[in-house]
Amino acid sequence: MYWNTADEIMISDPELAILPVGSIEQHGPHLPVMTDWAIGAEVGRRVQALTKGFLLPALPISTCREQMGKKGSVWMEPPTFYHMMTDILLSLKTQGFRKVLIIQAHGGIFTMIPVVRDANAKYNPDFMVFNFDLMMVSSTCREEGILECSGEIHAGEGETSQMLVIAPETVHMELACDYIPDTPRSYLSYGAVLRFCPEGVWGTPTLATAEKGEQVLKRAAEMAVEEMKKAFAFMESKEKLNYSYF
Ligand SMILES: [Zn+2]
Repeated sequence: MYWNTADEIMISDPELAILPVGSIEQHGPHLPVMTDWAIGAEVGRRVQALTKGFLLPALPISTCREQMGKKGSVWMEPPTFYHMMTDILLSLKTQGFRKVLIIQAHGGIFTMIPVVRDANAKYNPDFMVFNFDLMMVSSTCREEGILECSGEIHAGEGETSQMLVIAPETVHMELACDYIPDTPRSYLSYGAVLRFCPEGVWGTPTLATAEKGEQVLKRAAEMAVEEMKKAFAFMESKEKLNYSYF
């Protein structure tokens, strides 16, 4: 983990690195701009406890132009994100890490797909990267009855519940307001969230509780490990296809 010394990391010699990726962006009137970063960091800590991998500090900033309109959302350009992530992955590969689990805590990082696909296409089977998008957790938690709202995209029941566990002092439940626009998510390429959701909330945060948040965080860590194992097993089992291991 990042609080170990290099010598301690040399001795434990993990083959897995864990890299949470968050965002600093508006999360409605009731949640702090650190929400995605804080959730990514917390899920990362829980995954580390389950896997004993080398946990990196959560990256705070990624891509979030869809949150433009209020002060406090900070982004980089998608090509910058691609190059930054690729540099980090290759520095891990150089040191002998064979597997990297990315925990994507912000749904709007569409550049993550080429980052992961290119790294695997170039370096499988010597090096494998799996991206676990926390959006997967919300849908599973709804199927399992942990969460109630089906239309959540941003700052709703799931994220608010998790923040009530991680940093309750930063959550202003008295300001939480529910809003689900009649707009497809794809329209975030044509206008910012604040055009469709006046308060910057796309979901039902008033349904949030700390009890739900604890269950969501637990399932997030478990699912990240399960899905990672499946993907790495698949990548390890591939045979050469003409010129390619990808
Ligand atoms: Zn968020």
